[in-house]
Parts: sequence; C-alpha cells; structure tokens
Amino acid sequence: MLKIDVITLFPEMIENAVSHGVLGQALKGDLLSVHAHTPREFATDKHKTVDDRPFGGGDGMIMLSETLEKSLLKVKHNTSKVIYLSPQGSVLTDEKARQLSQAEHLVLICGRYGGIDQRIINTYVDEEISIGDYVLSGGELGALVVIDALSRFIPGVLGHADSADQDSFSQGLLEHPNYTRPRQYLDQEVPEVLLSGNHKLIVEWKEKVSALVTLKKRPDLFKEYIKVEREKYHALKKKKTAEPLKELLKFWQQMSLQDRKVLGLQGLNEEDFHD
Ligand code: SAM
Repeated sequence: MLKIDVITLFPEMIENAVSHGVLGQALKGDLLSVHAHTPREFATDKHKTVDDRPFGGGDGMIMLSETLEKSLLKVKHNTSKVIYLSPQGSVLTDEKARQLSQAEHLVLICGRYGGIDQRIINTYVDEEISIGDYVLSGGELGALVVIDALSRFIPGVLGHADSADQDSFSQGLLEHPNYTRPRQYLDQEVPEVLLSGNHKLIVEWKEKVSALVTLKKRPDLFKEYIKVEREKYHALKKKKTAEPLKELLKFWQQMSLQDRKVLGLQGLNEEDFHD
C-alpha cells in the first residue's frame, strides 16, 4: 500500500480534503494512506514559531529549517521519496502521476510564506513538483492535486467502469465527449453510433472523435499522436486505410453538422488537418 505523509502547517486542509469521494473510499479500503504532520509540534517557544525573516532581507518569511527537518525526519525512512511542492519544480503530468502511484512511501513538503530554506531542499528533497506556472500561497493545494491524480492509478481505487485508461492523456489523446439520458436535450441529439450497440464500431468512433477533440483543443498533443500513428501506418505492409491524418479528415468531412455540433467540434476547419 502506498503511504503518503504530508508536512504542512495546515494539516486539517489535507485531512479534510482526502476524506471525500474516490480518495475517501481509497483510504477506507486501505488502498492508500495519507497522514498530515505539522512542524509546529516541534516548535519550542511559547508562540510555536515556525518561520523567520530571510537573510539578506526581502519580502515574506521563510519556514524555519529546524522544525521542518524534525517533522520530516519523524516520517522519512530509507526508501521514502521526498517531494517539495514548488512553483520551481517540473510541472505535474499524467505520466508523472502514474510513476508516483508506484512508489512505496512519499513525503510531500508544503511550503508557506516565502517558501522553505534551500538547505532543506539540497539535503532531503528528491524532486520538486509544480502544479502549474503560477504561484500559490501554500503547497497544500499542490499536494492534494498530486495525491488525487496519482490515486487514480492505484489498482482498485477506480471501479472498472471508470478506468483511468479511458481518461484524457492516458492514450496521448483527450477523452471523447460523453452523454447520458435523455437522448435529445437542449436541442441536441446524442450521435446515432453510440446507440447502435455495435461495440467495435463505437470503440473506433470514440478514438477518432478523441483525435478530433485533441486536434481542436490541444494541437500540441495531437501532433505527437499523429506522429506515432503515422509511424505505425508506415510500418504496415498492407495498408487498408488512407494515411492517418487523411483518414481523420475523411471521417470529419463525413460527419453531419448536427454531430459536429453535439460533439463540440464546431470551429474545426479543413486547414487544421494540414501539417
Ligand atoms: N517564493 C517562492 C518562489 O517564488 O519560488 C514562492 C513561495 S509560495 C508563495 C509558498 C509555497 O506555495 C511554496 O513554498 C510552495 O510549497 C507552494 N507553491 C506555490 N506555487 C506552487 C505551484 N505552482 N506548485 C506547487 N506548489 C506551489
């Protein structure tokens, strides 16, 4: 079972957030454990001080090394991977979340104020992870994002019907749009193929629609996807279809305007299919 210890000045933020939904179920089912610890428990003065002014001046306080180190050493062992949530880290991806889900023990350090002392990073931190190019006031939301994203890859956390392999990014594409009852709503009708009961056809259709959604919303991801598809296509001896990009264009051209609308694909143009 993956164990996660979070070092934070606001343990309730972590404990409350992980007790809901899929994460809450994972904790109850012993698929994952998450515990929060505060450096404040090691503060010795009457104000329970955990921060101080930075040497050299500047805005903001810095978390005190000693209380932070003691908190860290309380939970860290030889095989722990220590991560500092930081705007300076590499940005979290689906692939990174998948890798982290395979760890044995993670220690997530949440900074506050102006951050933490560089010497703690130098000595203890294996990796710095950011959740995006913006600055948060604390690492707790970052830690929760990491915990939530990785938990989806732990076997048993998601039911069969809600597998992480079907979600956006897992196959290098964004997920296709989804619909539930009723069939006709807000003047839009669910695409016929989804009601056909033809599983093979639906799977193929969903992949093509995913590719179109990705082309429209994330051309950067689409470029990578089509490169791989082309390599696979050129490696084939017998070619049953047109070249992947041409095949996709054909699929889009044959799609009714009504389906394009219900799929949210309006605005996609023929020029978007050119390299
Ligand atoms: N002075 C720091 C800097 O410019 O790199 C920023 C400190 S920030 C106000 C306080 C804390 O929030 C950081 O120590 C870090 O733990 C967390 N944090 C801020 N932005 C983050 C991000 N994009 N991803 C993950 N954690 C972040």
